[in-house]
Amino acid sequence: MREPALVPRLRPFTATVFAEMTALAVRHDAVNLGQGFPDTDGPAGMLETAKNSLFGGDNQYPPGPGRPELRAAIARHRQRYGTDYDPDTEVLVTAGATEAITATLLALTEAGDEVIVVEPYYDSYAAAVAMAGAQRRVIGLTEAGDGRLELDLDAFRAAITPRTRAVLLNSPHNPTGTVFSRAQLSEVARLCVEHDLVAVTDEVYEHLVFDGGEHVPLASLPGMRERTVAISSAGKTFNCTGWKIGWVCSSAELVAAVKAAKQFITFVSGGPLQPAVAYALENELDWVEDLRTSLQEKRDRLSAGLADAGFAVRPSFGTYFVTADVRPLGFSDAAELAWALPERVGVVAVPVNVFTDHPDEWKHLLRFAFCKRNEVIDEAVERLRKLV
Ligand SMILES: *Cc1c(COP(=O)(O)O)cnc(C)c1O
Repeated sequence: MREPALVPRLRPFTATVFAEMTALAVRHDAVNLGQGFPDTDGPAGMLETAKNSLFGGDNQYPPGPGRPELRAAIARHRQRYGTDYDPDTEVLVTAGATEAITATLLALTEAGDEVIVVEPYYDSYAAAVAMAGAQRRVIGLTEAGDGRLELDLDAFRAAITPRTRAVLLNSPHNPTGTVFSRAQLSEVARLCVEHDLVAVTDEVYEHLVFDGGEHVPLASLPGMRERTVAISSAGKTFNCTGWKIGWVCSSAELVAAVKAAKQFITFVSGGPLQPAVAYALENELDWVEDLRTSLQEKRDRLSAGLADAGFAVRPSFGTYFVTADVRPLGFSDAAELAWALPERVGVVAVPVNVFTDHPDEWKHLLRFAFCKRNEVIDEAVERLRKLV
């Protein structure tokens, strides 16, 4: 028998849980709270701007680093955190946050390097580290006592070795809805400086922080701007996940490095959508504030419904997601339940342990997306009540 065609380092990554769950959802006509995408459109002015670009002849390659008006808008937007970036040398537009993360790891890490990753982690992280040929060192989140999760800083310190090159952090955190505190991030910053690590921060939910909480970009902390690759994207902020317009802000040296990898992955993408995202960053942050408020209400609506249906709901402080413990309902394995759920009651959720290297430690949690119309959330809750 010939060896399988796929190289060994990518063999763990052939199937994504989302494709399988979406197929199940379709087969059983289930309400899909599995995948995190909104079911309403972004701001009308942004869509109008995109339309004008498409019909205005803006349909050829944009400049390699991205359209200048978008880079300027990104730099201005980052000033809200007290960080200044030169739009010409310190900002790079990418094909979503996903390409930004992959290009960053390809540019900065290679065989022999270790990258610290926090589990549960967004599914592309492990694959991106593997594509770079580097190794992931996985640390967990711990209980803070009041039901909150936080970074396990002891594990973080213990994971740093002479081979550690980078740490990949996501806050607000998918899938748990954890928002890392300024105090915790300050300690992360201190360790990055002490051990000369690069931080790669996935901030795609930067605007979706609830209950008056704050998003603290690691790059805004002392000593971090020059060693942080700050990544964000329009998808989650402006309800346009299909556009895949993301960006990187960092020092000129790090941005040039990421660009070296990025330019041979996609070179450029989404040309006619870039002016629309620039417009949205400059003009639609009030719309985003309304989105945030509405998502906070949806979080409450779904959390209450899940609690009513018998789940032990974990607090969510941001993102599109809330997690819930299935044990009070008499189940011990959330993954088993997730596979049965579409047929049994017609709802799709994702087991949190698919995002981890330690599936046993995370096997009690399901992730539900609440970035859906209220009718959809209510229908899902109605169906989930039949579980008891
Ligand atoms: C959705 C998501 C992404 C992907 O962002 P794109 O801009 O669509 O590539 C990256 N990280 C996290 C944590 C996400 O939830």
